[in-house]
Amino acid sequence: MNIIKAAYCRTFQQAMHAAIPLLPYRKPTILDNMQELAAMLKNKEVKNVLLVTDKDIRAHGLTLELEEALKKAGINCVIFDKTVPNPTTDIIEECAAAYLENKCEAFIGFGGGSSMDCAKAAAVRIARPNTPFIKMKGILKVLKKLPLIIAIPTTAGTGSEVTVAAIVTDSETRHKYQISDFPLIPRYAVLDPKITVSLPKHLTATTGMDALTHAVEAYIGRSLVKSSKRDARHAVRIIFENIREAYNNPTNLHARRKMLHASYLAGSAFTTSYVGYVHCVAHSLGGKYNTPHGLANAVLLPFVLEEYGKSAYEKLHQLACVIGISDIHDSHEVGAKKFIEAVKQMKRDLNVPDTIDGIKEEDIPELAKTAEKEGNPIYPVPKLMTAKELEKFYYQILSK
Ligand SMILES: [Zn+2]
Repeated sequence: MNIIKAAYCRTFQQAMHAAIPLLPYRKPTILDNMQELAAMLKNKEVKNVLLVTDKDIRAHGLTLELEEALKKAGINCVIFDKTVPNPTTDIIEECAAAYLENKCEAFIGFGGGSSMDCAKAAAVRIARPNTPFIKMKGILKVLKKLPLIIAIPTTAGTGSEVTVAAIVTDSETRHKYQISDFPLIPRYAVLDPKITVSLPKHLTATTGMDALTHAVEAYIGRSLVKSSKRDARHAVRIIFENIREAYNNPTNLHARRKMLHASYLAGSAFTTSYVGYVHCVAHSLGGKYNTPHGLANAVLLPFVLEEYGKSAYEKLHQLACVIGISDIHDSHEVGAKKFIEAVKQMKRDLNVPDTIDGIKEEDIPELAKTAEKEGNPIYPVPKLMTAKELEKFYYQILSK
């Protein structure tokens, strides 16, 4: 990257870092189960809620306990189950229309990142009915109080229950982008391990590695603060200790609870300290080909960490110490390489592939440009890269 652009990126990131203590970060109140949620809503005298989810989740019966609890509390639950992976602006508009039509007073995003993001973005639409989504792309552009948002993650991965962001995909252009502002942080999150038990194994693997990516990218970036440092380290340790158990013994509620907690901590870390190029590349693939977000991150993570090279050695060495595979007697380089190897081993143990099907070679320059635009200048990555340099990652994961 040329020196002027690099200086611009780093100055922008330093200003953002300096502003962190001044920004209104908050964490959602955690509820343990559906009954607590129903009681809270009743207490607030909420009469109608919009449950935003997808057809698969409903078909698995995951929302039944909540529906029952709401019914018992005398709260009308309107169901919007049209969420799709990588929710589009059209679906979000439809979701907001359902909210208005049914005079709802709260959004409940129930599912993976897509359902929670759909609910968050639809809440933005309610607060800003006349502003096109694309005009709110980026950070701090919503600037309005949103309706009450409750998030119920069914995967231990995206961390959307605690983040400032909703990821949306333009229905026409397939451009995938973030809308990030403090009112998007849900007020409440229900972390109930029971509803993650029926998650298919491959999703336990990839969404869990998405959470790992959040923690690692936040940790190795230059915008770490005390709280995100603590949360990221804690998340990394919990994930290494529990992801294999959650994958191999899906009904182990202890491991499931731990993974939900880790996902929450990792979400908390990256909402303060950002992600990095793993996410930029993953988002470009999600926008273009609908590649599942967790899968893309899980596949990419070690490749990007290797490419950061010595700029990330010290932090990765620290993470290797956190998970107990290195100590201060190792050099930073040795410790970092041990950590990257541990991530690769995790991929093998969870049957995560090293390639992604469907990427077309001729699309790569455009995909890399999209990724570069997302990352620079906002993400305080350890080593800045240009679009040309980011192209390497697409070739590394291209199916032969
Ligand atoms: Zn992610």
